[in-house]
Amino acid sequence: MPRGMFKSGRLRKISVRTPGSRVAVHYRERKPSKTLCGSCKKQLAGVPKGIPSVVKNMPKSAKRPERPYGGMFCSACTRLLLKQQARGASP
Ligand SMILES: [Zn+2]
Repeated sequence: MPRGMFKSGRLRKISVRTPGSRVAVHYRERKPSKTLCGSCKKQLAGVPKGIPSVVKNMPKSAKRPERPYGGMFCSACTRLLLKQQARGASP
């Protein structure tokens, strides 16, 4: 029977082959969901999908594209937004 902390849905089970050729159940943290564009809900490229404690220690430039609204909107939506702003319309 697993310990109480392993019975919640917080962790996922993985099978690990031990050096003694036995298959043991280990528990790993689940990965978060993929980042979506704030406008068209398309998956964002260049945004890492990892365990937060690992992503937190990455350099800022590796966590999102280095352009205006990088990590918030996809490139197509950003282009439209910047055009609208240049025309003087509110986004
Ligand atoms: Zn978009």
